[in-house]
Parts: sequence; C-alpha cells; structure tokens
Amino acid sequence: MESSTRNTELHTELKSAVAELCRSFPDAYWRDLDAQRAYPSEFVDALTKAGYMATLIPEEFGGAGLGVTEAAIILEEIHRSGGNAAACHAQMYIMGTLLRHGSPEQKKQYLPRIARGELRLQAFAVSEPTTGSDTTRLKTMAVRKGDRYVVKGQKIWISRAEHSDLMLLLARTTPLEEVKKRTEGLSTILVDLRKSLGHGLTVRPIRTMMNHATTEVFFDDLEVPVENLVGEEGQGFRYLLDGLNAERILIASECIGDGRWFVDRACRYAKERIVFGRPIGQNQGVQFPLARAYANVEAASLMVAHAARMFDSHQPCGAQANMAKLLAADASWEAANAAVQTHGGFGFAEEYDVERKFRETRLYQVAPISTNLILAYLAEHVLGLPRSY
Ligand SMILES: Cc1cc2nc3c(=O)[nH]c(=O)nc-3n(C[C@H](O)[C@H](O)[C@H](O)COP(=O)(O)OP(=O)(O)OC[C@H]3O[C@@H](n4cnc5c(N)ncnc54)[C@H](O)[C@@H]3O)c2cc1C
Repeated sequence: MESSTRNTELHTELKSAVAELCRSFPDAYWRDLDAQRAYPSEFVDALTKAGYMATLIPEEFGGAGLGVTEAAIILEEIHRSGGNAAACHAQMYIMGTLLRHGSPEQKKQYLPRIARGELRLQAFAVSEPTTGSDTTRLKTMAVRKGDRYVVKGQKIWISRAEHSDLMLLLARTTPLEEVKKRTEGLSTILVDLRKSLGHGLTVRPIRTMMNHATTEVFFDDLEVPVENLVGEEGQGFRYLLDGLNAERILIASECIGDGRWFVDRACRYAKERIVFGRPIGQNQGVQFPLARAYANVEAASLMVAHAARMFDSHQPCGAQANMAKLLAADASWEAANAAVQTHGGFGFAEEYDVERKFRETRLYQVAPISTNLILAYLAEHVLGLPRSY
C-alpha cells in the first residue's frame, strides 16, 4: 500500500476515534466548566488514557511516535467537537524541549512517566508582567549556588500550573549586561511543582474571560537542583525558538477546529431559523459571511497541513508555521463573528455555546504570540524588511 494512502487511512481513523471520545464530553460539559471556571479533569484523563497526550513521544519512551501532523488532527477534532484542548495541549510541545535538548538520564526519568500519564508536564513559564513580548529582557534570575539554582522573580499567564507536576522555566542565568547578545544567558530549567509549592514558589490563579486555568507564579528564592537544567546553560532562548514551530502549528490546528465548528453551527441554525416566512440562511446577507468564513478556514487549513508536513520532514518551517498560526487565528475569529451574527440574539445566550467559543477563539489573536509579532517576523525574516522593534 502507498504510504500516502496508509497515512490517509490512519488519519481518518484517528479523527473518528478522537471524535468518538469527544462525544462523551458534549456542549453541556464544557458550558458547566466554563461557568465555574473549572478544569476539565475528566476530559484530560480520558485523553491521557487513550494515549493521545503521548502522540509525539517516541515509541522507545512509551509514546505513539507520531508527528505534528497527527497531533494537529487530534487537537483540531477536539475543537471541532465544541471542546477546548487548551487544558492540555502544551504537554505536546513542551515535551519537545526535553526530547530534543534533555540529557539521556532526563529523558529516561521523565518521558516514559509522561507517556503513561503518571507525570504531567503542562506548564511553560516564559511571560513576565513587565517585559511582555520582549522575551530576552525577562527578569527572573536563576543564580547557581553549588548544586542548586536559586530562582527569584515573577511570571504571568502561566497556564495549567495548578494542574501540572512539572513546569519548564525560562530564566536568566547570566545577567543581561554581562552577555554579548541578549539572546544569550537564558536557560531552561525543569521545576518540580509538587516539591516547590510553599517552598519558594507561589501560584495564584487569574480569572480570565474564558476558562483557561492560567496563573501568576512567584519565585522567592526557590531552590532547584542543577540536574534539572535542560540542555546547556545559557542556550535556553535557542531551545525556546526550536519549540515554537510545533506550538504555532498545533495552536493553528485548534483554530481550524474552532472555525469549522462555528461554520457548522451557524449553517445549522441558518437553515432552522425562520424569519419573514423563510430560513434566514436563504438571505445572501446571511449566506455570504458564512461562505467567506468557510473559504478562509479551508485555505488556512491547507497552510496548517503544509507547515505540519514540513515540520515532520525536518525542513525549516518558521515562515509556514507562523503563517499557519496567523491565517488560522484570523479565519477562526472571522468564523466566530459570522456565527454570532447568524445567531442574532441567541449568539449571546450561553446555552448555544457560540458566545463561549467566541471568547475562547479570541485568545489566539494574542497568545501564545500576538498577531503583530507574527507579522513583524514575516516582514523581517521572510520579506527582508528592516527590523521594526
Ligand atoms: C490566557 C492566556 C494564557 C497564556 N499562557 C501562557 C503560558 O502558559 N506561558 C507563558 O509563558 N505565557 C502565556 N501567555 C502569555 C502570552 O504569550 C502573551 O500574553 C503574549 O505573548 C503577548 O504578550 P503580552 O501580553 O505581554 O503583550 P505585550 O507584549 O505587552 O503586547 C501588547 C500589545 O502590543 C503589541 N506589540 C508589542 N510590541 C509590539 C511591536 N514591537 N510591534 C507591534 N506590536 C507590538 C502586541 O501585539 C499586543 O497586541 C498567556 C496569555 C494569556 C492571555
């Protein structure tokens, strides 16, 4: 059998298996959690038990050994079903830093346990309140003292820190004024949250416009063993960049799932809702925004699949991964607006779930990277224009 045919069959099976799992978590499940701002533990457990959280972990460490293409199919399907993978998607790409740059001992120690679902690596601490997108200026310091790093500083928007066992931290190990390039002197360190809470680490939840389990994290002379350093000291920014393409592609796939959900729901409603004696979907004013949103979601999905294929065949794909994220986030946001408009007043009613998904998909214009920063990347690195910041 041709490998492309085999892949298509595998992908179709994967998609329908994820869709089947998601059927046990209907709209009401997500709606109730949203109202309480509660974490979808049962959903994450089911996903972990089914092995989906270990999609990208190589088989030698007990994972499925599949690619970003397959991980993207899983995340898209979750979002297409009306759910939200933000509760757990990060493990897929944070794990990549450990896999690519961790020592053989670290990989042996952590990856099989992550694959079995015994250990959660869901939190990645990069953002800081005072420096924002200017990552290399971050202020959290990890100072080496003997066999420990002593960490002092603050992070913000650190999602899932309350629902993870480990957190990958990006901190400065050499002060900015002592490095030649500002991208140097940053390091990635694994923090064991279970041991650290109350011993120099404080986590405070932040309530946001959608259910996202995000937090602020305070380090007050937290001690971390030096063997928790991932890769080489001072090279953390490079490791961060290495992981970003996978993150961009996976988040983009969630946007595609959202976009398809919005178009499906809006079309269903447009056929059922009768006003002036006919379905509202018979009016071009209702049809055209949905047709345009559909076309843009489909176009963006081609870019996501293209970027994922490039990533999986180890080709440089920074431009494609960024464009996938940009186009998919724009397409899902356009579809969200069209879906609210189609639903009229009911677009604002919680029981239709459109307003919930609308709030959820809005995030992707800002996080994990804002649209402007992607445009700036394309302008500088693809179009060769002068750096604007
Ligand atoms: C719900 C949520 C979850 C998150 N989860 C995580 C997480 O788990 N881990 C983590 O580390 N971070 C996380 N983040 C942080 C997220 O990555 C940042 O919010 C995002 O990168 C933007 O940074 P900022 O909020 O500091 O905005 P800023 O950098 O302050 O930017 C504010 C606005 O100014 C624009 N801007 C800034 N500089 C320029 C420029 N040079 N040119 C043009 N426009 C510019 C930006 O595009 C943006 O619109 C999360 C954020 C949210 C809201």
